Amino acid sequence: MVSHVVPVEPFDLIVFGATGDLAQRKLIPALYHRLADGQMPDTARVIGVARSGEGTEAFRALASAALDAHITPAHLTGDLRRRFLSCLEFVALDVTGDTGWDALRQLLDTQENRVRAFYMSVAPRFFSPIAHGIRKAGLGGPDARIVVEKPLGHDLASARALNQHLGECFSEHQIYRIDHYLGKETVQNLMALRFANTLFEPLWNAQYIDHVQITVAENVGIEGRGPYYDTIGAMRDMVQNHLLQLLCLTAMEPPAQFEPDAVRDEKLKVLKALEPLAHKSDAVRGQYRASGKSRSYREDAENPDSHTESFVALRLGVSNWRWAGVPFYLRTGKRLRNRVSEIVIQFRNVPHSIFSPEGGAPHSNVLAIRLQPDEGITLSVTIKDPGPGGMRLTDTQLDMSFSEGLKRPVDRMPDAYERLVMDVIRGDQTLFMRGDEVEAAWKWTDMVISGWNPQEAPHPYDAGSSGPEDALMLMHRDGRRWREIAI
Ligand code: NAD
Repeated sequence: MVSHVVPVEPFDLIVFGATGDLAQRKLIPALYHRLADGQMPDTARVIGVARSGEGTEAFRALASAALDAHITPAHLTGDLRRRFLSCLEFVALDVTGDTGWDALRQLLDTQENRVRAFYMSVAPRFFSPIAHGIRKAGLGGPDARIVVEKPLGHDLASARALNQHLGECFSEHQIYRIDHYLGKETVQNLMALRFANTLFEPLWNAQYIDHVQITVAENVGIEGRGPYYDTIGAMRDMVQNHLLQLLCLTAMEPPAQFEPDAVRDEKLKVLKALEPLAHKSDAVRGQYRASGKSRSYREDAENPDSHTESFVALRLGVSNWRWAGVPFYLRTGKRLRNRVSEIVIQFRNVPHSIFSPEGGAPHSNVLAIRLQPDEGITLSVTIKDPGPGGMRLTDTQLDMSFSEGLKRPVDRMPDAYERLVMDVIRGDQTLFMRGDEVEAAWKWTDMVISGWNPQEAPHPYDAGSSGPEDALMLMHRDGRRWREIAI
């Protein structure tokens, strides 16, 4: 099997907030890898924009340090570093004012006929001023693109307002709303697994699937984002975007083509089919307490009375023919046992076992799609325990991990941002959220949150646990259990 890297056309990527954490930790390393793989041409320019800075040389030095911090030494050669850094330019520009835009225009004007992508790696309050600034300065032609990332609003009203502001300056086909979970190889592989094989799709429905679990667990707390996170909570921070997007890809109908609007239309239908939670107990909110050496959420949030959730578990349904009666269990939280993201498809038991009970019951099949830590897909199947001793059943894992199954070694899993930034340049919106999707996700999220009593404190849980006891009960009462968050 041959790896195909198709180079993109020379481009100008203008990164607002280029000295910040997201740009330095994710974008700069992602672009370096694309240059190293031959996808980003040497003539491309990455133009860093920030409120203050000491010019291009200082920006290159900052980016060079980011390469040292985030690229493994085996992938970092002196020649590539030099080639990459020479693609970088810098413009100091305060997006709330008028100065700096002329300098940016002059730089861009030296290469008029190339794709221009404006990446907003800044706080969301700057999205609208930047979009208007680009338009006012005459920098955004019909082929220009803007890239924005969560948080895309904090409720339906603010998401609508943001869409409207961006829409005043750019058409929908120019707006790239990133959810970096969609750029992960395994998430794209979920679509390949479902729609490029005949094996799974006929079973992908209520007749054969017992339930679906989606877990995004983090072992870190909210340190560093404390007071900000306290105004948001896990439901808005993680469920509204990442978990609902994963749910959409799991539950959507096959699109007619793998093409942006065909895929996004199907995801939108899933969001519109999300049922309101049937019972109050279908949502469990949790908050980590002090345990061992770990500080409590309230200490991290600097709010001793906080009722904001750092964990949420939900049981919900998708109201359509395919999924009627199949529960989807979602959970996400901070300071849990490990950093794990996975989608688990639990198939039904066989309708009748022909084997004697002494040999053990057949295990129901489980398809686990792991996004992190090690991206990969496993399928558990029941087999005969090898060797003598009669017909004894056991289950085994078919590991569909990339490096195992492919005939070429995969020496590095590309980061989601690598794929997504190149998709922006190519003009492919398939893995980006459309404005109506974001609004539909907020509509359902708002409905769930409006059912919560703000006076009610979330259930406490220990650092390093799987979340509050009530989250376990959410499944136990249905006779099911969460897949363990493995260490
Ligand atoms: P940051 O605070 O580290 O960086 C902010 C950047 O914005 C800096 O380069 C700063 O110079 C620039 N800036 C601030 N005010 C400006 C102004 N008036 N004019 C021009 N530039 C200005 O923030 P970050 O962590 O990089 O996050 C940026 C955005 O991305 C935020 O909206 C955040 O929510 C989002 N985000 C971040 C991450 C992450 O991993 N850091 C992940 C997902 C989303």
